[in-house]
Amino acid sequence: MHDPLADYRQKRDFGATPEPAPGPLAARRDDVFVVHRHEARNLHYDLRLEHEGVLKSWAVPRGFSYSPAEKRLAVRTEDHPIEYEHFSGRIPKGQYGAGTMTIWDRGTYELVKIPSWEEALQKGELKLVMYGRRLRGEWHLVRTQQAKNSWLLFKSKDRYSGPDRDSALGIELQLAEQHDVDASLPPMRHRAEHAVFRDPTTLFEMEFTGRRCFAQKRRDGTALLGIDAPAAAPPAVIEGLAQLRCDRALLDGVLVATDASGRPCRTSLERALAAGELDDLAYYAFDLLQWEDYDLRPLPLLDRKAALRAITPNTGGVLFVDHVAGDGPALLQVIDDAGLPAAIGKRAASPYVSGESDDWVRVPVCANEPAAAPTPRRTIQAVRARFQPSNLDKVYWPAEGFTKGDLLAYYATIADVLLPHLAGRPVHFNRFPDGIDGKSFYQREVKEGTPDWVSRASVPHDGALVPHHVIQTRDDLLYAANLGSIDLHPWLSRVATFDQPDFAVIDLDPKDAPWPHVVRIAKAAGKLLRGIGLRPLLKTSGKTGMHIFVPLRPGYSYEHSKMFCEAVARVLVRDLEEIATVERNPANRDGKVYVDFLQNRKSQTIVPPYSARPVRFASVSAPLEWDELEDGELTPRRFTLQTMPQRVAERGDLFHKALTDQQDLLPAIAALEDVLKNG
Ligand code: MN
Repeated sequence: MHDPLADYRQKRDFGATPEPAPGPLAARRDDVFVVHRHEARNLHYDLRLEHEGVLKSWAVPRGFSYSPAEKRLAVRTEDHPIEYEHFSGRIPKGQYGAGTMTIWDRGTYELVKIPSWEEALQKGELKLVMYGRRLRGEWHLVRTQQAKNSWLLFKSKDRYSGPDRDSALGIELQLAEQHDVDASLPPMRHRAEHAVFRDPTTLFEMEFTGRRCFAQKRRDGTALLGIDAPAAAPPAVIEGLAQLRCDRALLDGVLVATDASGRPCRTSLERALAAGELDDLAYYAFDLLQWEDYDLRPLPLLDRKAALRAITPNTGGVLFVDHVAGDGPALLQVIDDAGLPAAIGKRAASPYVSGESDDWVRVPVCANEPAAAPTPRRTIQAVRARFQPSNLDKVYWPAEGFTKGDLLAYYATIADVLLPHLAGRPVHFNRFPDGIDGKSFYQREVKEGTPDWVSRASVPHDGALVPHHVIQTRDDLLYAANLGSIDLHPWLSRVATFDQPDFAVIDLDPKDAPWPHVVRIAKAAGKLLRGIGLRPLLKTSGKTGMHIFVPLRPGYSYEHSKMFCEAVARVLVRDLEEIATVERNPANRDGKVYVDFLQNRKSQTIVPPYSARPVRFASVSAPLEWDELEDGELTPRRFTLQTMPQRVAERGDLFHKALTDQQDLLPAIAALEDVLKNG
């Protein structure tokens, strides 16, 4: 009878090598594979597949690759005995295969598509699915005609295939035990908050606002689990979980919906879940507790995240939450710029434990900017008004802790300087009844049921007279604020002179452009306008931009002011083309500041000075003196609900000249033509 191990025996001296001598052939199932890393004269990997009690073997000089395009030579070698499955050791010099033999991977496999070994060997083609720690999914061995025993080994296209790497996860799994993780355990949480810090042993991640839950993938389906998990997982999340490079996984993360500006928003999430509109929800995964049947919780966080990154395709509904190692301040700056609330610092070596842990610490943005972000407070300020204000304790600025009562109190305090800028102008409301993260809607007309004492004016619109709000009194102002109209949107002209704007306005709108660019353009605009004989006024928009006003003598039309501002904008863009643009489409602005002259139109609006804005930091539109642009630490966030009353008390209404210093455009237009001509 043919002895399949004759070659193996013949090549070895079992008195000199630690390799096992074959015992009697045992009848076993064909299901074990082992890959040895063999550091011989040339490093190679030996793939061994059990069949009929022996290990069929191939030497693979360049090892494995998960890229299907990487076809690796595999040289068929002599069959090895089943005892070799657990062998590792040093084969002495002078012996066959001298060098170090270590077990690189071990697991089970099954033949697929051509399930008979006899047929596969006869055809010279094997397809197998492997279940190892490093090797997973389907692999393909094909005999070539090049040379005797010459085969090619490559990855089949499947959920595991991808970049050229030699391991499913790229981490060591020695610490991982093989059993399921109980998904009903509470998730890991921080115990305490801390000001930002640097520490090379800490990974810093963004904190995402949404619903914390586990995401589970099994062969029979996927689910979001945990007390905060929604009843049904969004289809995109289910699809994303299906695409993970594994059959089974348990992830920790947050289900997130973003608001119009792309920030995670709890209100948007709850609204979407309530309405069953799940298309835009995504699961942000930051930890991997189980992979296949391995419990990864004892592994260091750094390894779990490497594994999570390796299995996450990062498209569609499941996204990998990356981290910054060590440099907390750098990440917090990014988080702050994005208007997000906090980072989470996590000890890189920490295992995953359920419940509160000192290995995680929350690092809020606010704690690092005491000047810009007041500590949360819930004192309801008393506001006396002609009507009964409602829901004063409703939180309007969640990160800062400001309530609707704080908004009304601010407007009550600031009314004396604000009201003259609103007098006589139709005003549109943009109502945020649930605060800045809630839904909002525009209101142009006075609604039925509005108390008679509330000021209004009839505005011709499409052949009819439409009642608009006009804010004439402190009570009108508080009434608007009580409706959730956080900011105010008056026209540039007044009721008596609809077609004649009281000022020309240039709106510097940076979108994502840096604040210093806004400042540079504002300085250039001020210099240009003063150079042609005007006395412009400057204020922050309250968000991230600035507004430049030129108050006008009566008699100019919107056409005049628009043409004039367009010419100014074109000079600014000509002189500062690297940072300024008149491109209306935000997608085409290349990160430049938009110099907007199109507000100079009838029924367009612009927020007045001192208007609050529905944005983080509760910043307000702040009149500036031109030389304040020289202050390198100037930021729009300095001016808030909390700081503005004090500033007004100290400096009065820096914008009062918008009401009194009426200027003549005609000489300025002539001078501007000279500037354009002479470059
Ligand atoms: Mn070898």
